[in-house]
Amino acid sequence: MEHVRYLIIGAGVSGLAFANAIQSDDYLILERDHEPGGYCKTVQQDGFIWDYSGHFFHFKRPEIEKFLVERMDDEVRTIAKSSKILYRGHMIEFPFQKNIHQLPQDEFIDCLYHLYFRDPKPPTNFKEMVYSRFGKGIAEKFLVPYNEKLYACDLSELDVNAMGRFFPYADLDGIIKNFREPDNSSYNATFTYPRGGAIQYIHALMRDLRDDAIRYNTSLESLDLQNKIAHTPAGPIKFEYLISSAPFDRLVQMSGLSEHHTPFRSNKVLVFNLGFDRKGWSGIHWIYFPERTYSFYRVGFYDNIFDTDRMSLYIEIGAASDATLDVEGSLQRVLADLQRAGVVEDHKLVSHHSIVLDPAYVHITTESMRAVEGMRQRFAAKGVYSIGRYGGWTYCSIEDNIIEAREVADILNTFEG
Ligand SMILES: Cc1cc2nc3c(=O)[nH]c(=O)nc-3n(C[C@H](O)[C@H](O)[C@H](O)COP(=O)(O)OP(=O)(O)OC[C@H]3O[C@@H](n4cnc5c(N)ncnc54)[C@H](O)[C@@H]3O)c2cc1C
Repeated sequence: MEHVRYLIIGAGVSGLAFANAIQSDDYLILERDHEPGGYCKTVQQDGFIWDYSGHFFHFKRPEIEKFLVERMDDEVRTIAKSSKILYRGHMIEFPFQKNIHQLPQDEFIDCLYHLYFRDPKPPTNFKEMVYSRFGKGIAEKFLVPYNEKLYACDLSELDVNAMGRFFPYADLDGIIKNFREPDNSSYNATFTYPRGGAIQYIHALMRDLRDDAIRYNTSLESLDLQNKIAHTPAGPIKFEYLISSAPFDRLVQMSGLSEHHTPFRSNKVLVFNLGFDRKGWSGIHWIYFPERTYSFYRVGFYDNIFDTDRMSLYIEIGAASDATLDVEGSLQRVLADLQRAGVVEDHKLVSHHSIVLDPAYVHITTESMRAVEGMRQRFAAKGVYSIGRYGGWTYCSIEDNIIEAREVADILNTFEG
């Protein structure tokens, strides 16, 4: 039987980052797709460069960015983000809660009144959190409808901290101060982006790997934890350590650990990439659409990153994981909605592409966090580490994926002598 010390599942950011960091050549990456990248792939079509939805990068740790950029031949730009919200025909700055003064006067008063008289009782879930922190006005005009469109679930099912550091918190003083001294700084005030798209970061992570490091079109199908054997359609592989970036719920199933009730739910996101014959709005990188009359929750402008001359959009539509998607019908609705919003005028659509990300945003609940923690301990006792955005059933960025993969490798490197 084939034997490998480190068997890595998935050639996305997490699997590749682990392979870079482990101080051993005795590793193999199994990838069920025919190409690397996971959700960090890029599509080149008719002169347009698109990712699997907008993938922009915010590095907290300069050494990680340096590590990647040193391994890239591409131009990487750092851009000061311009993100807006289209609310009832008014364009206001993101985040909504800090820019209510940009709303029409009656809407502004409504938000301010409810913000001041909010009921700050300790919240027990995400929905209660937005009401108790920001009041009914801000909650019902933006935070609830927007997040319901994105997560495609009842927000009271989500944990208070379901979005972690990605949620733009603001207190009353900060909100009022922002009326006069705008400070919309956030974790992603600037972002970096390579001219060739997000896949350039994947190529950077592959640069120092062995040529035969990745076995494509090969899925992990089941896992014998007791005997440390991974079953694939091409035969069994014995491992000492298994590092999986497959979605956690699937790993649990593949290992036979699944119980009657598994608390792992998520949404899926239908992404359209649209290329038009000429330029549209400039100076904006993405726009949030909280109103339910628009099918999408966010629209991004690739052409405003490198200032190219044809409008190039990504469109994100959240859906329940069991929803049946009518992709062609959704495209027609998206085009009509874009026209209504004024993004598209007499532009001609010259190229398009779609992809469904499933899972996309996992539903972080108290039960899901407890289950992940408990089961991860059971896996670790057998030398199995589940990492990554879906392996950890969490909300995180590619930088977080790299940090986590390195931390797991650091633990295992102590045994490498
Ligand atoms: C809509 C959206 C927008 C995002 N935007 C950003 C952004 O702007 N910036 C940012 O930093 N992050 C962003 N992210 C997050 C980013 O995509 C993820 O953090 C990152 O791609 C996760 O990498 P990963 O390797 O953990 O998982 P994945 O990318 O999911 O890779 C897992 C790999 O494992 C493979 N695999 C799965 N199961 C098996 C199996 N059984 N056998 C073999 N192979 C298997 C898959 O084919 C895949 O290649 C976004 C995510 C979404 C959904």
